[in-house]
Formats: sequence, structure tokens, C-alpha cells
Amino acid sequence: MPIPENYLKAPHFSCSRLSKFLNCSLQWAFQYHYRIEREHTPLSLVFGGAFHTAATWIAVKKKDGRRIDAAEAEDFFSERFLEECRGSENLTFGDCDENGCDTMGRSMVACLMENWPQDEIVIDAGVPFRVMLTDYRGLPVSDKVLIGEFDLIIRLPDGATAIIDWKTAARKWPADKASKDFQATCYLYAGWREMKMDPEQTLFRYDVITKTAKPAVTRYPTMRKHDHFQRMLKLVGAVENAIKAESFLPNESSFFCGDCVYAAACREWHRTQSRTISVGDCSDARKMKAAA
Ligand code: SF4
Repeated sequence: MPIPENYLKAPHFSCSRLSKFLNCSLQWAFQYHYRIEREHTPLSLVFGGAFHTAATWIAVKKKDGRRIDAAEAEDFFSERFLEECRGSENLTFGDCDENGCDTMGRSMVACLMENWPQDEIVIDAGVPFRVMLTDYRGLPVSDKVLIGEFDLIIRLPDGATAIIDWKTAARKWPADKASKDFQATCYLYAGWREMKMDPEQTLFRYDVITKTAKPAVTRYPTMRKHDHFQRMLKLVGAVENAIKAESFLPNESSFFCGDCVYAAACREWHRTQSRTISVGDCSDARKMKAAA
């Protein structure tokens, strides 16, 4: 089930918004503060969305106990992916063109199905959440709520609950990435708040599928404690203060720079006066002035 419209319309943070702010607050500001149009749509965005939709489709069928045909799942992916490609403006391609990505996506869907653990029970898939961000005293650290969607919730063979997040990645992750990753903290916090999942007993697992000719699924389990939640909440408070102060800075060593959808606006940033950013597209500049 997609995140409900009313969740999206109300002021909110999502884990990806927070991560974006922490990676490059200027990129965050272009998108969410000044609300300028992105300069292009990276194919990777469309690809990741179609893959997630296909993975959710498989999980829902498993939950309902229905038989799944691998070819049907691959076709489901292709339909969503090609439809999204046709509906996207200024689509930009990296190493992979539309046909190449379609073939790779089909292999990844087949790989996910082949490697689906038979002893794990699907409880639910595509589950939206919306939780208050409150510290250990019960005081809100932000007037925004945290929203998101659990890709998959499962029952493990030992009876424990796990939240699964599917990731597509160019290569396998470094061994310690899952233990530091911000999303696990946000999602386990949400599971605790929204579904009363005990963080000491709940696993978060990244199921990473490589975007390669011969894809592989690697699983990275991790857990969090209440202290991690307090650190995350402190970070959210600091982000909130930075937004109020309009303290937005480029991070030119960011992982996002390579395919940044605001690269042109970023190049102009240091030439602008306070609260007025001049970019090639005047309508975007007007939007930024209006937002200031
Ligand atoms: S190009 Fe890099 S530094 Fe500039 S806004 Fe994009 S991600 Fe940030």
C-alpha cells in the first residue's frame, strides 16, 4: 500500500529526506525548501521504484499463499519500469540504457525469487507508518512527524519479527555499513512507536540485490537500542534548527554529486545574494525567492 496522500501533505520528515539533508543540505533545500524543479530524472530512480513495486507484488502473493510464476513477476517488473520510463521527463541514463536496465531488472527479480527464504513467513508488505518524534521525556523534537513505508515485515524461523528493506546496489555493501546506517534506526524507532515492536527483540535487515549481469542477494541484519533512537532524535532537532536558520551548505564530496538533479543550481549557489538564488531557469529563481 503506498504512503497515504494525507501523510505526504502534512509537514513531515522521512528517512530519505533526513539522510539527504545529512548528505547535502543544499540539495535538500533545493528540493524541499525552495521547491525548484529537478533538472533531470535519473534512470536509477525509476529503476529502483519499479524494482520495489515488483518485490512488493511478490511479497503480497507470498503472504496470501498464492503460487508465483517467475516469468509473471519479471513481466510485472518490465511493465512498471517501461511505463515509468515513458512517463518521466528528462530521463538521463548512466551506464545502462532502457533495454539494458529492463533485462537487468528482470534478472534481479528472478534472483530475489530464487533466493527467497522458504522458512520466513510474510506478515505484511508495503506498510506505511507515521509517528511522532519525541525524546525520552516524551517531548517532541520537531513539529513534523516521521513517515515512511516498511518494505516487508516477516516472522523469522525462531519466532522473532524482522523488518526488511530491499536495496538495489552496484555492489555488495561493506561489512559495517548496516550497523551504522541511519534508516535502520528510523525504521526500528517507527516499529517501536507504531507497532509496539520491542527494539531489543526486533531485527532490521537490508536485503541487497546487486545491479549486475549476474545479480546476487546479500542479507545484512542489524539491531538498534533506545540510545540509538535518542541520538537520531538529537540529530532531527539539529536538522530542524538548521532549516529554521536556512543554513544550507553544499557537500561536494557527497555521494550524490555524481548524478545530482540540482547540479546547475548548485554551481550558481555561491554567486547568489542571501535568500535569492539565481539559476538559469527564472521560474525556479522566483520560487526560491518566494520561499525565502
Ligand atoms: S552537486 Fe553535490 S554539493 Fe551540489 S547540491 Fe548536488 S549533491 Fe550537493
